[in-house]
Amino acid sequence: MSDKIGLFAGSFDPVTNGHVDIIRRASKLFDKLYVGLFYNKNKTGLFEPASRQKMLKEALADLKNVEVIVARDSLAVDIARQHGVTHLVRGLRNAQDLEYEANLAFFNSQLAQEIETVFLLTALDYRYLSSSRIRELIYFKADISPYVPQAVVKEVEQKSENNQKI
Ligand code: ADP
Repeated sequence: MSDKIGLFAGSFDPVTNGHVDIIRRASKLFDKLYVGLFYNKNKTGLFEPASRQKMLKEALADLKNVEVIVARDSLAVDIARQHGVTHLVRGLRNAQDLEYEANLAFFNSQLAQEIETVFLLTALDYRYLSSSRIRELIYFKADISPYVPQAVVKEVEQKSENNQKI
């Protein structure tokens, strides 16, 4: 049988424990799992793409079959095809996610029928966790450590010590 290759794509602005949990679980289901940091030139986030990539890589360093790739202004299916991806992986927190994610999956299956989308349900602890909530906490200088990998805490601390814009 040919290898099963997954792609979990997102903007990871920043990566949260919810993302890491999905990635850990998905890494056991696939021979190889790409984590795609996707960003758009015209849609600026809170963290620079290079800093998002650094945090992701650090948070996932112990997962040997996981590789972080970066794509700017690209369709997920195009990047998936370039890497021989067989499955797109998405996370679901609630019915609202399902609505959005189902629409995206239908659309992607129109674009690339050979690529299957699979969904993993979030772990109970992470149902309310999103990157936008974390950005809010950072804005208000609140403690983010229960919700994100240590790499994110470190990055935010370093930037604020140096009075650097995130
Ligand atoms: P996007 O900008 O594409 O929404 P995200 O980085 O927010 O990118 O999310 C990427 C994927 O991670 C999506 O499938 C989303 O549903 C999933 N996800 C986000 N937060 C969580 C969480 N707390 N638990 C499980 N899945 C999540």
